[in-house]
Amino acid sequence: MPDLIKVAKFGGTSMADAEAMRRSAQIVANDPDKRLIVVSATSGTTNHLTSFCESVTIPEKEELFRTIQKKHTDICNELQHPENVRKKLDDVLNELRKYTKIQVIGAREKDAILSCGERLSSLLFTEIVNEAESGATWFDARDVIITDDAHGNAEPDIKEIENRSAVKLRNLVKEKRVITQGFVGSTPEGETTTLGRGGSDYSAALFAEALNADVLEIWTDVTAIYTTDPRIEPNAKPITEISFDEAAELSVFGAKVLHPATLKPAIRKSIKVYVGSSFHPDQPGTWIVKETSEKPVIRAISLRRNQTLLTVHSLDMLHRHGYLARLFEVLSKYKISVDLVTTSEVSVSMTLDTDVQSAERNHLSEKVLNELRSFCDVNIEKNLALVALVGNNLHATAGLSGPVFGALQETNIRLICHGASSHNLCFLVDETKAEDAVRTLHQTFINK
Ligand code: ASP
Ligand code: MG
Repeated sequence: MPDLIKVAKFGGTSMADAEAMRRSAQIVANDPDKRLIVVSATSGTTNHLTSFCESVTIPEKEELFRTIQKKHTDICNELQHPENVRKKLDDVLNELRKYTKIQVIGAREKDAILSCGERLSSLLFTEIVNEAESGATWFDARDVIITDDAHGNAEPDIKEIENRSAVKLRNLVKEKRVITQGFVGSTPEGETTTLGRGGSDYSAALFAEALNADVLEIWTDVTAIYTTDPRIEPNAKPITEISFDEAAELSVFGAKVLHPATLKPAIRKSIKVYVGSSFHPDQPGTWIVKETSEKPVIRAISLRRNQTLLTVHSLDMLHRHGYLARLFEVLSKYKISVDLVTTSEVSVSMTLDTDVQSAERNHLSEKVLNELRSFCDVNIEKNLALVALVGNNLHATAGLSGPVFGALQETNIRLICHGASSHNLCFLVDETKAEDAVRTLHQTFINK
């Protein structure tokens, strides 16, 4: 009997090829407590499958099919016993091949197609774990991860996942090592769904919650969460332990290791989360826990680029009610997502994350602007970056702003947000000054 129940998730780069899979399998084999293994598709495969769905010609689809087929049969050919898994791989590939004939793919079919990525990788990985030790078993995540029918971004049904897991999984993981798919779910009627891009972390956290696991491990291609981006500041240090609350501020503010929402199921049950690299399993990773033993005022500094500052101004705002409601109603109507807000008596400034890669996102079209201009003056500033200090009790620490802003004497600070969160103090600076600001603050507070 295992001592603990650990759920371990391996991302796409940890499944990239036979070599990466063997490295990951060794991590599994070295720890008898890793009972449920949740895997992503091999790296690049979900992108290929997405292109497959979006391509409109049959030859394009056939070409993408062949790429995916080759990638997985290549890994299969490197196995000690390819015959153990070849038939099961072919079943999934044949299912996918059928869709090459369909020109326009709907949302339902798309989920069935996307699920093939994780189904293929998990079949191969089960066999590779079995090379290291026998007895690992493949499990269909769709038997447990029950969701609504919002295809492409389905909402899990926590209660039902718990029920299913009690019946189908809880005892199984005690007897055997179980390998399953991330990202993939099913409606109660048995139709395949997916949890949204990058959803495997979320799946793993849902499984951990349903199993009442002791630990959730996320194995990825970075060794740890760092005190800041090491590409900006080479003296950045790995963080040994960080709280869920701090980590949430960090991931929102630029450290793209984990998305905070994905950890919610683990937070609900206070399950400790470990983040480590499957490429360097011996290097220490980061623990994300409810209560950390140390609570430094400043734990990390993050940088988020591509910020737009939208400022509206109107004398009508003075001592009136409903003004902010009206403002946000317009922004909501055009699906503009606002991150930070500061207000004065007659002005409101807001930051929008304007990712250049998605021109659609938070686009301030003439339509939005005209509607705003009908009741206020509007000003837009671009090429800004958001620098965030993340830590503990920032709102109640006397003498913090002196050193922060003293260190940045030469920098024009455009907007400050302080006080809303006890774990975060952040401000906007010109994009060209942002990296310097991060380095200076890192030297002042972390590498002191
Ligand atoms: N394979 C899916 C994706 O690439 C889910 C995941 O890897 O988290 O989005
Ligand atoms: Mg991922």
